[in-house]
Amino acid sequence: MSPSEGRATAEKRYVYDFGDGVADGHAGMRDLLGSKGGNLHEMTRLGLPVPPGFTITTEACRDFWAAGDELPASMRQEVLASLALLEKRSGMRLGDPAAPLLVSVRSGAAATMPGMMDTVLNIGLNDWTVRGLAERTSNERFAWDSYRRLLSMYSNVVMGLHTDHLEQLLERMKEKEDVHSDASLSSTALRDLSGIFQEKILDLSGRRFPQDPTEQLWAAIAAVFRSWNNHRAVHFRNANQIPHDLGTAVTVQAMVFGNMGSSSATGVAFTRDPNTGASFFFGEWLPNAQGEDVVSGLSTPFPMNRESGAVAPEETLAHALPEAYAELNRIKDTLERHYRDMQDIEFTVEQGQLWILQTRTGKRSAAAEVRIAVELVDEGIIDEKEAIRRVRTETLERLMHPCIDATAPRTIIAHGLGASPGAASGRIVFSTQDAIERAGRGEDVILVRRETSPEDIHGMLRSKGVLTARGGMTSHAAVVARGMSKPCIVGCRDLEVDTEGKTLVIGERTFREGDIITIDGGEGSIMLGRVPTAQPKHPPHVTRLMGWVDRYRRLAVRTNADTARECKAAREFGAEGVGLCRTEHMFFEENRVMAVREMILAEDETGRRKALAQILPMQRSDFLAIFRTMAGLPVTIRLLDPPLHEFLTENPGDLEAMAARLEIPLPKVRERYRALHEVNPMLGHRGCRLGLSFPEIYEMQVSAIIEAACILAKEGLVVEPEILIPLVFHVRELEILRELIRSTAEAIQSDYGLRISYRIGSMIELPRACVTADQLATAADFFSFGTNDLTQTTFGISRDDCGRFMPLYIDIGLLPGDPFVAMDPAVGELVKLAVDKGRKVKPDLKIGICGEQGGEASTIRFCHKIGLDYVSCSPFRVPIARLAAAQAALESEALA
Ligand code: ADP
Ligand code: MG
Ligand code: MG
Repeated sequence: MSPSEGRATAEKRYVYDFGDGVADGHAGMRDLLGSKGGNLHEMTRLGLPVPPGFTITTEACRDFWAAGDELPASMRQEVLASLALLEKRSGMRLGDPAAPLLVSVRSGAAATMPGMMDTVLNIGLNDWTVRGLAERTSNERFAWDSYRRLLSMYSNVVMGLHTDHLEQLLERMKEKEDVHSDASLSSTALRDLSGIFQEKILDLSGRRFPQDPTEQLWAAIAAVFRSWNNHRAVHFRNANQIPHDLGTAVTVQAMVFGNMGSSSATGVAFTRDPNTGASFFFGEWLPNAQGEDVVSGLSTPFPMNRESGAVAPEETLAHALPEAYAELNRIKDTLERHYRDMQDIEFTVEQGQLWILQTRTGKRSAAAEVRIAVELVDEGIIDEKEAIRRVRTETLERLMHPCIDATAPRTIIAHGLGASPGAASGRIVFSTQDAIERAGRGEDVILVRRETSPEDIHGMLRSKGVLTARGGMTSHAAVVARGMSKPCIVGCRDLEVDTEGKTLVIGERTFREGDIITIDGGEGSIMLGRVPTAQPKHPPHVTRLMGWVDRYRRLAVRTNADTARECKAAREFGAEGVGLCRTEHMFFEENRVMAVREMILAEDETGRRKALAQILPMQRSDFLAIFRTMAGLPVTIRLLDPPLHEFLTENPGDLEAMAARLEIPLPKVRERYRALHEVNPMLGHRGCRLGLSFPEIYEMQVSAIIEAACILAKEGLVVEPEILIPLVFHVRELEILRELIRSTAEAIQSDYGLRISYRIGSMIELPRACVTADQLATAADFFSFGTNDLTQTTFGISRDDCGRFMPLYIDIGLLPGDPFVAMDPAVGELVKLAVDKGRKVKPDLKIGICGEQGGEASTIRFCHKIGLDYVSCSPFRVPIARLAAAQAALESEALA
């Protein structure tokens, strides 16, 4: 019978077959077949050893819900036809005691959700087929072991019973038999367990475990469809912005058995180390076990080879099953070349014969993400552009997060497997519940568990780090932690975790909930108390990637920096100039603020000039240091912006001291204070309004800037000052101040007898400035968008006060996010309007953005699109902005 027979006329096709080297589907059909399903079809086409089976589409899942949890009739028909084909391919039949076909019923959605949904193995076993299986394989123990596994998975996934009940019975049997591991249980014990399990199931649920294999199959398919909506899956989708209405595909696949004895095994392998990204075959395996044993994290598997951390050759798969290992090694290369990315592979060895059960793009740590992208380029598998597209800006951001300060004293109390790098300190919690509660109170917590199940995802999300006694590097929990970039240590055998009593014993020490520990998920060490962290240096792969990035971006990246020290850091991060230097920050330094206050309190211009004369040399020395650090690059300096009262103290004691020091009578000081008071200072007497009222202030600042530039020019350094006028809303403001700047600069240049090139620009941070940008452009050499103030004035909200309602607005979906983090589209419209109007008058007008949003990826993409010349952001965001700018350029190149 042909696979498509009987469904040629059906309008919807629900089922796709694979096996014997042919497949109806392929990897590109992930929306319909799920990525697990699509990849099984693809691997079959590649000729890899994949057990045959068929995939039921996500559409069937959606139709199942729409029909009120009812399997569509035509889907049942297609499944029966595909089952017949599978029986033919495998030479066995579902429910036939002489040749029993066993299948797994596997979940798998378009987006990979490791371990979040359910899978049932060994469907098809009952009290008769189990005996047939024993006879056929001459392996009693294996048959009963498979049956008890089915009973426990089925009762949990399909019948909804908690796994603990049967788990306890299993533990009791081990005690009775006096053995320590599941693998040591005798065949008789396992047979007895199948009876005991079935009684318990009936007892707890009032229903019998169905002996009819077809009934098992339908129920398992429905249960896997339903598992799309279990708690952890819903939570995972929320955390990863995956839509909730897609549904899962179901793959029904002939079982292969890793639990058939010592020449059988199961494992998980990564084509590269997911932790560091190093290019070696990394994996874990368990002899005589089924796949679930490794991925569930219930046991700690063995390293697959030396590189994966084996201490004795005997424990490696390479040693135990060399032929299967060699073949797996070849397949790993095939898969990586085919998919052009690091793969995470599930495999099973049945009596020496290797089977591949899954491949997917492997989750990896932030460091590994960069290293793998760079090395794939070196190996000719992808090109530079692809590498740039693949590394996420969040990843770079994470790489700049702190790691343990190597010089700090620390007491290491235990070691485990470093499953996800990064350092974290926090208070110990023993349950997801406690993690959520304490994190909700703003505490940093470390979730400590015997093993983590995907169930713990809520707790993991709220924790700074995760630590488990059991589980391997490839367990779902480790994979999920890596995906979240949470520091994570697993398989730490020295840990005795008492979840109920909420204690953790490590050697002689006992810890309780709330005690502080530090973990380093890279090296796998657990430390006492809080250990200081440090800013990491860029690893060499990041440096190489950043070298490529600069070839493709068009936007320049500058920094917002107020001191020479910040400038130096930013230059090291690749900043190409200063986009915003806020002069007022220099006024706050202790030895200066008095002179500033004197200037503010002065009664007339003469008094002010006297005070300003004291400030001038200080400002000049600041600019000297900044210009020197940024030599050869443009430096944008904003003239004084905040309202003057910000420099005055409110403290009555200080007020008196000030009066005394400045020799002004106290009542006079009070009077000046009252005069400076504003109801709404952020919309008050600030920005260029100050410059117009007190031109001598700006005059002093401009003098300091130009003098510094002249001094350095004499030394032969190239200095490019760009003087920025804040809070402009009218072209006349610009014209008047421009003239002031020009004449001041003129005088100084003739004093020094040289010319320097400087520019005068307008801050664009008010809606009126945007609307009149064509006029402003006539009096400006450049524009700089101050998107913080522009957002405040566009929304009519204050950034400092919106914390009261912004979370609500985001929560109810009124705003997609905080407009002070990523530029709001309406603010974007105003920016675009100003760009268009400005350039219409002055086509070569230089334009940049210096608001906080200038370092955020989606804002940078927008800035690229509307043709800005540069973005400017805080020093440590400079590499992130460079990457985002390159990605934006590649994106528009791809669209063109
Ligand atoms: P998950 O998404 O939780 O990994 P899977 O469908 O991949 O769920 O299956 C769980 C475990 O069972 C995996 O280790 C997988 O390799 C194993 N498995 C699934 N189907 C089969 C099969 N047909 N034969 C043997 N092992 C299987
Ligand atoms: Mg899997
Ligand atoms: Mg501003």
